[in-house]
Amino acid sequence: MKQKRRLSTQLSAGIALLVLTTIFIISLAANLCINYQFEKYMEAQQKNRSKDIAEGLSRQYDADADEWNLDYIHGYGMYALNEGYILKVYDKNHNMVWDAENHDMTLCHQVMENIRLRMEENRPQLEGDFVTCRYDLEQSGERIGYAEVSYYSPYYMDEDDFHFLESLNQILFVIGILSIAGAVAAGMFLARRITKPITKTMELTREISEGNYTMRFESDIRTKELQDLTQSINHMANALEEQETLRKRLTTDVAHELRTPLTNVSTHLEMMIEGVWEPTPERLQNCYDEIGRITGLVSDLERLRQIESENLELKKEPVNLFSLAQEVCALFEAELGEKHLSCQVEGEAVLVDGDKQRLQQVVVNLLSNAVKFTGVGGRIHILVRNREEGAALVIEDNGIGIPKEDLPLIFERFYRTDYSRSRKSGGAGIGLTIAKAIAQAHGGSLTVESEEGKGSRFTLLL
Ligand code: ADP
Repeated sequence: MKQKRRLSTQLSAGIALLVLTTIFIISLAANLCINYQFEKYMEAQQKNRSKDIAEGLSRQYDADADEWNLDYIHGYGMYALNEGYILKVYDKNHNMVWDAENHDMTLCHQVMENIRLRMEENRPQLEGDFVTCRYDLEQSGERIGYAEVSYYSPYYMDEDDFHFLESLNQILFVIGILSIAGAVAAGMFLARRITKPITKTMELTREISEGNYTMRFESDIRTKELQDLTQSINHMANALEEQETLRKRLTTDVAHELRTPLTNVSTHLEMMIEGVWEPTPERLQNCYDEIGRITGLVSDLERLRQIESENLELKKEPVNLFSLAQEVCALFEAELGEKHLSCQVEGEAVLVDGDKQRLQQVVVNLLSNAVKFTGVGGRIHILVRNREEGAALVIEDNGIGIPKEDLPLIFERFYRTDYSRSRKSGGAGIGLTIAKAIAQAHGGSLTVESEEGKGSRFTLLL
């Protein structure tokens, strides 16, 4: 298996490489530009200088005496020779006035050789050589002679010039090294900033996977994607924590719900076995009822599991909600009659695409609650309508209602209001959970509005 490289290393290396390439290109370009510009400058400078020298010579002629100031020309010529310019001065009749080579041939050759060697060593590609320029010497517009100035063309540089260029390149090199060091440091800092939350997220997810659901990511991250990542992890931890609480509560609730009827049955049977109690049909009926409650609870749980399992299969068909409500109402005829309750179904025929049996289960659960929690002589109203947001089935009663604080909880598993607990209404608090799960499996919703003492209204929207 290939060895995995750390993200921080890859990031720092990547950034460093990028900066390195950029600096290399910039340095190279700067170096070439500076050299080129400097050479151009030297070339122009040399041309100007040779012209200046010629001009200086023209002032050393005394027209009245028809004489050249030879002393000065000599000093001037030697000075120029030291700079790399070899002078020859002629008068208007082409007679030589002064010639550097004539004057000191050895020195001239030495100067020329030095320049040639230096340039060939430092600029071998230049292929330069000595050229001679001729300048007319004039005084008050009149030609008095001419000068020949020889110098190394296209340009030549002395030790100082080369030294100057070298220093410039060294400065560039130092800047480059400093920038690379800076880039590596910045890269490492940036990489750390990016990888730190990722590493922390990794640790957090490991903790969560080990069952520590209370862990949360608390840090101020300024990178959007990383913040989204940590937020998703926090959401996941939240969801898992909720699931865990629910799972624990479910186990406790099931145990609690089973304990009461089981204790009842076992004490009843114990008393009868020990002969303390006569096994009267009434007592046996009691035991039977309790066992019925247990069976009911188990089948409720089974149904809930089925419905809450992720791929609840719905056998969909066109269902008329109005006739469905009427059918369910008819099923409750006996209970309704017992409590002298009226049940009216109103509205219109509304067709939905759904699982008829399961939708019937919803209405049964809602209606059985309405019957349970409405006092003798009360009224139950079922209204079926096509609304803008979908098909609606509303079951309204004028029963005991639900306390405000219980409203958000009644759809939870095993949740019952205090009243319903003390009244032993028989339900285990699963009916509404099942109804809501079925509504949601159909892509719909089940909501409640209620006022204590006045009644409740459950709305199924599909
Ligand atoms: P149960 O099996 O106890 O009826 P449900 O999940 O169907 O469980 O209902 C949960 C609780 O909501 C009930 O115990 C009751 O306290 C309250 N409730 C449900 N429907 C009504 C209603 N129509 N009127 C008053 N309270 C109701």
